[in-house]
Amino acid sequence: MFDYTAGQLELQQKVRNFVSEYVTPNQSIIDSGNVPESVFQAWYQTGLICLVAPKAVGGIELDTKSCAIIMEELALGDVGLATAFGANNLGSYPLLIAGTPEQQKQHFGPILEGKYGAFALTEPGAGSDAGAVATTAVKKGDEYILNGSKCYITQGGYAIDMESSLVVFASTDRTLGSKGLSAFLVKGGTPGLKVGKIEDKMGIRGSQTVELVIENLKVPASALLGAEGDGMKIAMKTLDSGRLMVAAQSVGCGQAALNAAVRYVKGRMDGGKPLAKQQAVTFRLAEMETQVEAARQLVHRGAVLKDNKQPYSHHSAIAKLFATDMAMKVSLDAMDIMGTYGYTKDSEIEKIWRDARILSIYEGTNQVQRLVIAGGLLRS
Ligand SMILES: Cc1cc2nc3c(=O)[nH]c(=O)nc-3n(C[C@H](O)[C@H](O)[C@H](O)COP(=O)(O)OP(=O)(O)OC[C@H]3O[C@@H](n4cnc5c(N)ncnc54)[C@H](O)[C@@H]3O)c2cc1C
Repeated sequence: MFDYTAGQLELQQKVRNFVSEYVTPNQSIIDSGNVPESVFQAWYQTGLICLVAPKAVGGIELDTKSCAIIMEELALGDVGLATAFGANNLGSYPLLIAGTPEQQKQHFGPILEGKYGAFALTEPGAGSDAGAVATTAVKKGDEYILNGSKCYITQGGYAIDMESSLVVFASTDRTLGSKGLSAFLVKGGTPGLKVGKIEDKMGIRGSQTVELVIENLKVPASALLGAEGDGMKIAMKTLDSGRLMVAAQSVGCGQAALNAAVRYVKGRMDGGKPLAKQQAVTFRLAEMETQVEAARQLVHRGAVLKDNKQPYSHHSAIAKLFATDMAMKVSLDAMDIMGTYGYTKDSEIEKIWRDARILSIYEGTNQVQRLVIAGGLLRS
């Protein structure tokens, strides 16, 4: 379960090469929120634009463990870019769960040409409680008319501007609560869908996070994924998959913090010898590596369960809870080890720590993961 295949090592090296050629040299401009077009182009050229696109539509359809290895490696370079590129996977899971072959063709077509998709569930009044979605979808003849708004949508502006593909959740019957939630495949650029506020975030600035305004957005009845009322099921299954990827990003983030700390202690002198010779410091590094590796194994366990078609929702939540808390703790430990230098913008750890903060919030906060884990534990 824990060894990498030759193919997985090749993929890891491919992403490592991409990071060293395009991400590391552009780190400060990516962190300013302006990802150079050349970075998007180079990522497209890797052939990894959508890791989960089925072979039937011309995709690479990678197994989950390979996806996790790629997400870890990308996040080791920049968690924001991992989030941005990961949006194509997050926005695609609903199609894998409930899309017809025709809907899959419509969705994956633009994405495999290098465009960005999005997953639009969250609203100002519906975050952890997805059942509270207030955007409505009213059926009129052979189309649905959607009204409402979405917030914090990753790459949402790209999906609209590039006329790509979004999955938008809306209620077809508000009296039913979460059972009235439905999912729709929407073409970016359709009249009635526009970008509102663009968020100015503390971290993961290489990804775009936007509000979407939905006013009389008309979609054909054929845009409905599954049946009316399937939305909650589709959203929750999507998040089961997405959470494993956030956990994988957290492993990359923690590893980046550990690497930064190791580099620092080898160079920083204290009492005539490097910090790396102080046992208290080395013990702390040992603890940090143990945490990173434990998180990695939890991610791979969840991925292997999914790939073997076993229930994995519980393990996905466990992996996300542990790995995201680990990323926060290890980046804080690394910052501490670097003393005042770690508190300055000259140090790489300042950015890593800002990036780490989001991991335990999006795709379900860690309180929500605790609810999922405890629910599963007490049911069994
Ligand atoms: C950078 C970024 C990117 C995002 N990308 C997307 C995206 O692409 N698509 C999308 O749909 N959404 C996206 N989101 C939204 C994200 O998934 C939500 O913000 C997240 O689920 C939390 O919702 P909330 O912010 O409304 O918090 P709330 O639900 O308001 O929670 C506030 C606090 O209360 C706690 N809490 C809430 N309910 C419970 C409970 N029942 N028991 C215990 N504690 C509880 C939470 O843990 C949290 O600490 C993104 C958010 C960010 C910041």
